[in-house]
Amino acid sequence: MASRKRGGAEVLMAQWRKLKLSEEEEEVVEIMQTGKKEIDRKGEKSLIGRVCSDRPVSKTLISNTMAKIWRISRRAVFQEVERNTFVISFETHADMYKVLEGKPWSFDSSLFVLIPYEGKLCLREMVFDKETFWLQIHNMPLGCMSMEWGNQIGSSVGRVLEVDVEEDGTGWGRYLRVKLQLALMKAIPRGRFINVEQTKHWVYFRYENLPRICLKCGWFVHGEMGCMATHADQAVEGGSEPQFGSWLRAESFSKRNLFSYRNNKGREDLYTRDTSGQAEVEGGVGNEEGDRQANGSNMHSSSTFSNTQGPVTVEARRRTVEKELVRTSEMSGEGMAT
Ligand SMILES: [Zn+2]
Repeated sequence: MASRKRGGAEVLMAQWRKLKLSEEEEEVVEIMQTGKKEIDRKGEKSLIGRVCSDRPVSKTLISNTMAKIWRISRRAVFQEVERNTFVISFETHADMYKVLEGKPWSFDSSLFVLIPYEGKLCLREMVFDKETFWLQIHNMPLGCMSMEWGNQIGSSVGRVLEVDVEEDGTGWGRYLRVKLQLALMKAIPRGRFINVEQTKHWVYFRYENLPRICLKCGWFVHGEMGCMATHADQAVEGGSEPQFGSWLRAESFSKRNLFSYRNNKGREDLYTRDTSGQAEVEGGVGNEEGDRQANGSNMHSSSTFSNTQGPVTVEARRRTVEKELVRTSEMSGEGMAT
């Protein structure tokens, strides 16, 4: 989808370059600052969202659905700016940060990519080619369940934003959680080999809130060429096992240390997801039955967020999200097998 848009922009540029412009057309219209303030203020509380689906999405339906799922203080206003692409204006910054922090979101089981509003770009220049996911790394040796290994393995998958570990950097649990930005136009990574004291060890991945992906090629979004999977890609030695499936979706998850964060750090803005809501996403991967989220029992259920937050918690949320938007992952430590 992203490349199609870029291709479209190039075609458009090539078209007008061929035109012989009149004197009037050559004149530049200066954009005055007057009247710009209000649109900027609105932009600061807005996001751009695109539903990665070939089926057209109705503005009313997505607006009603997300109003139920997001659970923000006031309903967000959707304006369609391109097919399946919307400017979403929130009433408060806190609402916007809450939605950003809760990524990824889905609509009708299709990924709903959200990017920050950027007033200087036109739609065709915007790219919707990555999204934030929580990756679970399973089958980890206990000695590897740490910030350091989470960073290293995560960095081989995408841009690491956070590793869910204790304050001392250890992350023992059923799996290690890493928040990262994932490229949408390539096959979803299913695992990695790690080298632990000369022993090659396979760790496998599960994704929280995984939307529908192409089960043939494993991409979230196809390019203009459509699905590039060939029969040979799908066939593996000794059979033709499906290479991608709903097994890539995490069955349950919970954020580590929510209790201690909230009580020791005063970070009330952190919220967790209700693991019981996970039953709702069964239909996500390769299943057409996606509107269950619209029934109010959504996959982003429980939230400790309250509508009466003061500026401090809003600020904390802003920092969390900005870290996600700008921070480059810091890698350290010793070698990792590929
Ligand atoms: Zn495909």
